[in-house]
Amino acid sequence: MSEEENQTQFEKEHTRTDGGSNPRDGDGVVNTDGIEGTDVDGPAAEETDEVATGLFDDLLSGDPIFEDKEVLRPAYTPRDLPHREDQIDSMATVLVSALRGDTPSNILIYGKTGTGKTASAKYVSEELEATSRKFDVPCDVEYINCEVTDTQYRVLAQLANQFIEKNREGIQAEIDDLVSLRKTARQDLTALAPTRFESVDAVTDELESLRTDRDDFDDVPMTGWPTDRVYSSFFEAIDYRERVVVIMLDEIDKLVEKSGDDTLYNLSRMNSELEHSRVSIIGISNDLKFTDFLDPRVKSSLGEEEIVFPPYDANQLRDILEHRSQIAFVDGALTDEVIPLCAAFAAQEHGDARRALDLLRTAGELAERDDTDRVEERHVRQAQEKIEIDRVVEVVRTLPQQSKLVLFAIILLEKEGAHNINTGEVYNVYKQLCGELDADVLTQRRVTDLISELDMLGIVNAVVVSKGRYGRTKEISLSVPLEETESVLMSDSRLGDIDDVQPVVQARFDN
Ligand code: ADP
Ligand code: MG
Repeated sequence: MSEEENQTQFEKEHTRTDGGSNPRDGDGVVNTDGIEGTDVDGPAAEETDEVATGLFDDLLSGDPIFEDKEVLRPAYTPRDLPHREDQIDSMATVLVSALRGDTPSNILIYGKTGTGKTASAKYVSEELEATSRKFDVPCDVEYINCEVTDTQYRVLAQLANQFIEKNREGIQAEIDDLVSLRKTARQDLTALAPTRFESVDAVTDELESLRTDRDDFDDVPMTGWPTDRVYSSFFEAIDYRERVVVIMLDEIDKLVEKSGDDTLYNLSRMNSELEHSRVSIIGISNDLKFTDFLDPRVKSSLGEEEIVFPPYDANQLRDILEHRSQIAFVDGALTDEVIPLCAAFAAQEHGDARRALDLLRTAGELAERDDTDRVEERHVRQAQEKIEIDRVVEVVRTLPQQSKLVLFAIILLEKEGAHNINTGEVYNVYKQLCGELDADVLTQRRVTDLISELDMLGIVNAVVVSKGRYGRTKEISLSVPLEETESVLMSDSRLGDIDDVQPVVQARFDN
């Protein structure tokens, strides 16, 4: 939902920018002298240049690189998804039952990030809803991103409220119809002939009961109710009408990781109790192994149909980028190497289309900043570097305090030129840092765990080496740019207070 809102926001902003960049495109009325002064193409610019000093002229002039940059952003949902035809067909083959009024099998979709799962699922659900409207079959698709809505309570509450709202709207429409029917019938009783009502009073009774139904639906608050009550609200809301409901749970692994499989258990056994409606679930997961954590009953019910989204190879990424770039860039803005290079970089990154699109957009922005009108190979390389640094900055910035201290200890050691840093050395410097900050000192065992976590995040590289009869130790090195990482750490208000780092590093050589 929020993605769609974002997109409209983007669209709005984009239209606004377009309108502003060339006031002559609009109707003549808005062209006051002042605005005309900024119109670099206009011959009137020199004559009426009374207000503007030309601050924006350079920025407006020159061939822009982007035709429509928003097309390269994650919020944009493409209608055209090359190399996902098979997966889209498989989904449609299962979901077509919904249009026949039957319950589709549950579907589990797997694939690494950026393999087009969300985009394909959204495309299919839009098609499904549109077709159901066309043929007037009651079918609803509800999309939930479980990374955001990550507890059973919130999933059920969100679903309940969506259906409560739908029910209210539906009931209101019926009420409006009946009110006007009653009005006509009061003048002319034959108006009731084609309906199921035999008298005006019968219409009034029905109106009464609809109004009660409408007012009986209570919104579920976002916290505070017992889960049972939320569940029954959802159950009643969904079962109020005859319909097939497809619940799409994106990033379902995040939900299970955070809150277990209760939600899935409850949703997957609903059909045996529902009287009027039917539920079918589409689960989308980035983690191929997440079903290992599921109750076997949930696992078999959810995995009735499984669809795998394999990573894209470089050629496929190239196609995807070609398609998108035709709308995103001005003709001729990309030199020949740009798309193949973006595709090659992203193919190394487990075939991630999101990464490929990010690279292409960032390369375009860097070229723009360079004041050239062509995106070149070097811009792609710079973009690759920038994205990698942005990723590191984000990961480091959000590390817990203790992990930051451990990382800082490693950085201080590297800055002193230490090689083959081992856990003991890191621990000594770490203890000194804790002393400076008055922070709790963790055990060496815990610090070893934190180092392993940093390793998994790709921030440090820790190799286990055997020291013969002295046992095994880890050799630790930084795998991210030192300066950038250090400056992110220093921007943390507490770590930034450490001004005298010298004695800390000294500690290593004292030991
Ligand atoms: P996932 O959900 O698997 O992580 P997404 O569906 O969000 O991946 O896709 C990531 C980005 O790549 C989105 O911007 C999406 O529009 C784009 N994308 C993925 N696959 C394709 C494709 N086959 N064609 C065009 N764009 C695609
Ligand atoms: Mg996704």
